[in-house]
Amino acid sequence: MKLVARPWFDASAVANDLAPIATEPSPMLPGDWRSLRPVVERGKCVKCAVCWLYCPVQCVVEKARWFDFDLATCKGCGICAQECPQRAIVMVEEAA
Ligand code: SF4
Ligand code: SF4
Repeated sequence: MKLVARPWFDASAVANDLAPIATEPSPMLPGDWRSLRPVVERGKCVKCAVCWLYCPVQCVVEKARWFDFDLATCKGCGICAQECPQRAIVMVEEAA
């Protein structure tokens, strides 16, 4: 069987508006659509920083005596509450 060289893929032939939604940056932040928010019981927090380590969007903020959250960027996934060894974080429903 004779081998035949195939031409390289020509990206210039692909239209650049195939996924217009994906290419439009959205100004919406997670705080605009989140259904649950984390709340720290400050008396239980020992500042171990486990929540800071596990938060996938890095919105955990260090305060003088506890850790808190930047609620504009928190997406309410609940990982911090799940991982907190002190059970100091509770997820509460967002008010409508
Ligand atoms: S994981 Fe829990 S105890 Fe540790 S810093 Fe975060 S809220 Fe505090
Ligand atoms: S709920 Fe999720 S996004 Fe929000 S602070 Fe906890 S881990 Fe981060």
